[in-house]
Amino acid sequence: MPENLPIVQHWIGGATVDSNSGRTAPVYDPALGKQTKSVALADRSEIDAAIVAASAAFPAWRDLSLAKRQAIVFRFRELLNARSRELAEIITSEHGKVVSDAAGEVARGLEVVDLATGFPHLIKGGYSSNVSTGVDVYSIKQPLGVVGIISPFNFPAMVPLWFFPIAIAAGNTVVLKPSEKDPSAAIWMAELWKEAGLPDGVFNVLQGDKLAVDGLLNAPEVRSISFVGSTPIAQYIYETAAKNGKRVQALGGAKNHMLVLPDADLDLVADSAINAGFGSAGERCMAVSVLLAVEPVADELIGKIEERIATLRIGDGRREPDMGPLVTEAHRDKVASYIDIAAADGATVVVDGRGIEVDGEADGFWLGPTLLDNVPTTSRAYTEEIFGPVLSVVRVESYEQGVELINSGQFGNGTAIFTNDGGAARRFQTEIQVGMIGINVPIPVPVAYYSFGGWKDSLFGANKAYGPAGFDFFTQEKAITSRWLDPSHGGINLGFPQN
Ligand code: NAD
Repeated sequence: MPENLPIVQHWIGGATVDSNSGRTAPVYDPALGKQTKSVALADRSEIDAAIVAASAAFPAWRDLSLAKRQAIVFRFRELLNARSRELAEIITSEHGKVVSDAAGEVARGLEVVDLATGFPHLIKGGYSSNVSTGVDVYSIKQPLGVVGIISPFNFPAMVPLWFFPIAIAAGNTVVLKPSEKDPSAAIWMAELWKEAGLPDGVFNVLQGDKLAVDGLLNAPEVRSISFVGSTPIAQYIYETAAKNGKRVQALGGAKNHMLVLPDADLDLVADSAINAGFGSAGERCMAVSVLLAVEPVADELIGKIEERIATLRIGDGRREPDMGPLVTEAHRDKVASYIDIAAADGATVVVDGRGIEVDGEADGFWLGPTLLDNVPTTSRAYTEEIFGPVLSVVRVESYEQGVELINSGQFGNGTAIFTNDGGAARRFQTEIQVGMIGINVPIPVPVAYYSFGGWKDSLFGANKAYGPAGFDFFTQEKAITSRWLDPSHGGINLGFPQN
């Protein structure tokens, strides 16, 4: 391991805490193709320290008036808005995505902070007067306590921002375990919370790997787990957290299809396929990875996509090309291996992204936009999540055949239909077994006041992220039945209460 590289540390109790675990993982700059930092990997005592800090901060944070909590969330919102470019540059240096795309990620996360500033309205309870003579019933929504958030590499700011603004606004305290591939964004946001006046211990960042995750899953003080990542880990998180009696939402992987009907505007489709297939190098859980072309449009559409791919500039995200590198060498190699798998299974490689020219260092983790045609639906290149800039075309004969393919898949995160037929689009939204649907919109990520989440193996647990579901997840309700005695209280009655 290179000497003298900075180590990204934990943030516990309102300050940086240097790790003594003796364990680290490398953090790369993907456009340079070299390690630029290390990240600490927590040991047992550091996991405990984060949980202890969050537990200690909870009672006072829960009891702070809503007005005072709200003022802090507003200050965080203003600071994040003013300094979002700084955060975007940090994301690019560890993830590789183009800086303007990283700024877009921060802007979508900021929407959740905007929503969270209105939290007093969203955690109101109900009140029913005189349900029985002299008896009132009302409900209050209280925070859970310490909540755990475990996030993936592909959105190091936005995904944590799906959860912690709402969790904190609702009165919980947080331990965030970011991806070890790009751990610095979380620390930057922790410092921002401090500047916004958040009391120490309300927001903690625990750097680590499976040991840290298992520590959160097994700690009785951690009342809930919000996870985003790949499906096998999401399933493990769901099962383990549920077994340990925790509330859990675990968002998993995806394989998003775009269904193109013959009446669609093919220029709009080609532009959308490029944006959704190759933006952020395909490392988005809402990326389109399969284009289902209802014949006879496939040949014309492939021609249009090919033309557009030829214009894309690939390079160092700091220089604002169209697309940056992949996150690590290992991930790049894995994604590239699917090109061989598809070809061996009989697909045509229309555009091969390997060995492309780039505006960046030769050692960067590059893979250019790749277009595959006639990908067999039995191929692993079709059935598995690739998570890179590889777009597969599957030719189908009808709308029905397309819907059947989408519905028979393992995942149900996002999908889109492109058509000018409103009736077909309406039928699609009813019949399709997917959680987020675009109609002539390729990446239908819901705005913050709706909720984000897929169906099937793209989400384990009942609660989606943010929006109304987020407030439900991070609060628990109490129902209170009260009677202030008057002389007619009715005396002893051993029967079950009736109103
Ligand atoms: P990942 O599953 O490898 O890692 C996610 C988190 O889990 C990280 O914090 C990691 O440290 C931790 N982790 C990894 N292995 C673990 C193990 N064995 N035990 C416990 N914890 C473990 O995912 P990733 O590669 O960082 O992110 C990409 C994946 O995330 C893709 O599958 C993508 O579709 C998915 N994703 C889904 C959504 C969604 O909203 N559904 C959003 C973003 C990303």
